[in-house]
Amino acid sequence: MIFDPQALLLIKFICLLASTAAVAWGLIAKPLQIATQASMRFSLANLFVLLGIILNSQRSEASSYLFWFCSDMAILFGFILLRWGTKALFRLSPSVKSDLFLLAITASVMLSVPPNFSSERTLAVVFSACAALIFTMLTRDNYQAIKRDTGNRVAIAMVMPLVAMVGIFIIRIFIALLSPEESPMFIAMHTHEAIPVLWFYVFLTLLINIVMIGNAMTRLVSKIRMLAERDQLTGLWNRRAMHKFLNNIHQRWLRDNVPYSMILLDLDHFKEINDQYGHDAGDLALLTAARLFGSVLRENDALCRHGGEEFLVILPATDAPAARAVAEKLHQVLKDNSFIWQGVTIKIHASLGYATIYQGCQPDKLLIQADQAMYRAKSEGRDRICQAC
Ligand code: GH3
Ligand code: MG
Ligand code: MG
Repeated sequence: MIFDPQALLLIKFICLLASTAAVAWGLIAKPLQIATQASMRFSLANLFVLLGIILNSQRSEASSYLFWFCSDMAILFGFILLRWGTKALFRLSPSVKSDLFLLAITASVMLSVPPNFSSERTLAVVFSACAALIFTMLTRDNYQAIKRDTGNRVAIAMVMPLVAMVGIFIIRIFIALLSPEESPMFIAMHTHEAIPVLWFYVFLTLLINIVMIGNAMTRLVSKIRMLAERDQLTGLWNRRAMHKFLNNIHQRWLRDNVPYSMILLDLDHFKEINDQYGHDAGDLALLTAARLFGSVLRENDALCRHGGEEFLVILPATDAPAARAVAEKLHQVLKDNSFIWQGVTIKIHASLGYATIYQGCQPDKLLIQADQAMYRAKSEGRDRICQAC
């Protein structure tokens, strides 16, 4: 077989890109142990795409299942591995059965035509349709996961390259169906006509890896942010995040005069739960309280674990009477519920102090006043609500 020199150079370049990416992801997975399962799958994805491209480049006049069918299936399986890597990275529910079903259908259609030049347009359409479907599902997975971690706008920007890939595969279907004169570019990789398709593979290999690196970074950043701003046990905001939130809301008060309030809750006789039933029961009590408080608060209220068995709630755009109403809801939800530990029903009680911002008061001072109100609730007999004086 005679290779066009430019086509040969591009094939070597694609192989170099895919193998470098496979090694890089392999290093990330094993020695570095960053998102091991996902990185391993991204590494394998590059290897399968590489294998498919090498087989594809060997196509000749002779019929060959290896150079036609196996080559296409290796690339498609590489795309599926990208999806599985993304699922592992973002801890999404697996889709092994449906993905393998899609591959099986594609394989059976491909096997129904002879593996040679006479079927190249049919094979190009089937391959591109399957690839477009896989990239559509990959786009959806990425969008949902990134949106959850960073919000809608970032998610849309991050999935744009994947949307472009779907578009490119759809265009490829139309070219193969409607423009037979353009189809020689799909026949074999070693010809001069194949150069646009080879450039497409360069673009594909680069783009896929850039998107996956972007995903891994997004996941890493959201994990770091989670560790920095969330309480490990309850998943609630920690003190550090709460101070940030409090400062923002105070700026809004200074600018727009919209009052805010805060409620400090301390679980009553919590030590007794630990002493009587053990530390794990205490942990479950904290988790139960966090879940119950969360169930009665609005979405833009901030619930924080302020210390051991102390919780702080920041209520934006809330005056004193409204804060009282929220405190009563928090108090009531504990009264109405309990949790079961090893067959024993345990009630949780809390003392609450609340305070509302006023002219000349700083957030730290307001927090001290809410704390004093909470201690007053304790000294007056616990299981009650007090307002800061
Ligand atoms: P009071 O009604 O006066 O608030 O009494 P209390 O027992 O609730 O308060 P105290 O400060 O005496 O005890 C708080 C206990 O909370 C002591 C500490 O070991 C426990 N604690 C703090 N953090 C955790 C945690 O993460 N898990 C568990 N299980 N216990 C915790
Ligand atoms: Mg306490
Ligand atoms: Mg307590």
